[in-house]
This record gives sequence, C-alpha cells and structure tokens, in this order.
Amino acid sequence: MNNERDNRVASAAADGPFISIVVPSYNEHEVLPEFHRRLSAVLDGFNHSSEIVFINDGSTDNTLALMFALRDADPRVAVIDLSRNYGKEIAMSAGLDHAKGDAVIVIDADLQDPPELIPALIEQWEAGYDNVYAQRTDRDGDTAVKKTTAHWFYRLIQRVSNVRIPEDTGDFRLLSRRAVDSLNTLREQHRFMKGLFSWIGYPSKAVPYRREPRRAGESKWNYWSLWNFAIEGITSFSILPLKIATYVGLTTAVMAFIYAFYFIYKTLVYGDPVQGFPTLMVVILFLGGVQLMSLGIIGEYLGRMFDETKRRPLYFVNRYLPAREHTEQHDEQGGTMLARNVT
Ligand code: UDP
Ligand code: MG
Repeated sequence: MNNERDNRVASAAADGPFISIVVPSYNEHEVLPEFHRRLSAVLDGFNHSSEIVFINDGSTDNTLALMFALRDADPRVAVIDLSRNYGKEIAMSAGLDHAKGDAVIVIDADLQDPPELIPALIEQWEAGYDNVYAQRTDRDGDTAVKKTTAHWFYRLIQRVSNVRIPEDTGDFRLLSRRAVDSLNTLREQHRFMKGLFSWIGYPSKAVPYRREPRRAGESKWNYWSLWNFAIEGITSFSILPLKIATYVGLTTAVMAFIYAFYFIYKTLVYGDPVQGFPTLMVVILFLGGVQLMSLGIIGEYLGRMFDETKRRPLYFVNRYLPAREHTEQHDEQGGTMLARNVT
C-alpha cells in the first residue's frame, strides 16, 4: 500500500494535488449513472487529477455491473466490491482505506449531497483545513418528525459526550491525507462515523449547503435504525448511561433505607396488622424495573465489548479494481502492487 502511495505521490508532485472521491453505494443503480454524470462534470471543471472510488456494499441490484461499466468508460473510476452488505459506515471505511488522494471526499451516491459543492470543499482544504464538512442549511427532504428527533439527538449527544459533533452534518466532507490516515487507525467495529470524524480533531471548517431530497431509490433508514444509530452514538462516545444506572441505583437504595426506618418505627409504635400489599407491589416492581434497566444498560456496553474483543477485520473485499488511469501510470513505473490487487 505504502509503495503504491509513494509512487502516486511522486507523480502527483508534478501535476498538483490528487483528489479521491469515495462513494459508498448500496442498491443505487437508479441514480448511479446520473450521479457519475454530475460528478464528472465537476471533476472535469478543475485541473486536479482525481479518482472516483465506488464501493459496492453488497448490492442486490444492478449496481456492481453499472460500476464496472462506468469504470470501462471513465479511467478515473475505481471499484471496490465488498464481500457482502456491511452498512454504510464500513463501506465508507473500505473506501477510505483504498483512497489514494491527498484529499479524500466522502459523498452519498443518491445525489442528496450535491457534487457541485466539491470545489468549495477543496477551496477550504487548500486554505489549510483538514476536516471540511458540509453542513445542511435546511432539511427539506426530511419530515418534521425526523427534523425534530435529529435536533434532539444532536443536543443529547453534545451533552453526554465530550467530542463536539457539529449539528446537521452528515458524512459528506473532505478529509486531508493526515486526517484519513488518523481515521484509518480507528478500527472499531461499532463505527459511529459522525463521532469518529470529530474525535480525530484537526482544524475543521463547515461549508453550508442545501440538502436535496433523494433522487431515486429509497433511504435505507427507518425509525428503528435511527433509534439504534442514536444508541450507537451515545454508547460509543459516552459512559453516561452507566453512571446514570449507578445513581438511579444509589438514589433508590437511599430511599429504600429511609422507607425501611419509617416502617420499623411504624411497626414499633402502631403494631403490625397485615396491610400494605399495594405498597409492597409498587416497591417490588419499581426495584425490579430499575434493576432490569441497569442490567440492560450494562448489556449494551458488554455487547459492544464482545464485538470489539473478537478483533475481526472490518470487511472483506471480493474484488478491487483500481482506477485504470493510475494502474497504467504504475505499470509505467514498474509498480506491480496494484496489478496484484486485482483478483
Ligand atoms: N449505503 C451503503 N450501505 C448500506 C446503506 C447505504 O453503502 O448498507 C449508502 C447508500 O448507497 C448511499 C449512502 O450510503 O450512498 C446513504 O444512504 P441512504 O441514502 O440510505 O441514507 P440517508 O441519505 O437516508 O441518510
Ligand atoms: Mg440518502
């Protein structure tokens, strides 16, 4: 890999910075040609050399065949075909691992992230920012419920974690080479990318844009997955729920203690006719509830530890076809690394 990049860096030194566009795609055959058209128009417009890294995240439709066709037509296109569907976070990470650019841009295939914003991102990178993120000015494509829940989610995660995650920011962004290298050292299975992007730090800058509604196909998100996403975000970046469990437990214990004194006193003074069944039930159910909830919270963390301790690789690649443009360049320089990667 390093050798590969050294070759590329050497050749890039001559013709300016090299930009990688990373496009995770899952069942996007309806939008992919249009996406490629719009992206190409942007890339043709500036004089940096570039590659478009399409990641096929185990699509069940025509997406992969389309990617190969695009690669035949456009020498800038590289294709990573993952061994199955891993989810956007991991697809994106596969792209970041393989991207060779001095700057890497992550963009959705569904045209919700306008490729036309890319020059503005690059401009900020050239001004010295490592992490240039596109920030939505409005969420026209989203329902009112999604807007509100998203807002509250950002407020919550801001409070419970100590990384600053900018609001209304997705994965659409530009990362400098050192930011990508840093990000690539974080190999956790549970990849809450918004958090990881912020966690690595470096000078960051927002570029505002209007997020379009999805062009075609459908969003892979439903409320259940958003809920899980929120839990993922909180448990990956905060142990506050564990602390809350501790304090709820403590408070209950103290209250139970006071209550016990009250009962002892009452029994001593007024005797003990059999009574208080409702109280008993309430106390038992309440304590049971608190205990189960705390166990559940511990379980959430334990489950994540279980996943992490297996130390599995993040993904497997079925096939990697580097951009033809650069494969040829490497062949001229006698590099064989890329050729060997093609299986
Ligand atoms: N995506 C992916 N793997 C998945 C789900 C989605 O690579 O398992 C890609 C998808 O093709 C798109 C991007 O991630 O390019 C965003 O997905 P989607 O539009 O469903 O999310 P939303 O825009 O609703 O947040
Ligand atoms: Mg989308």
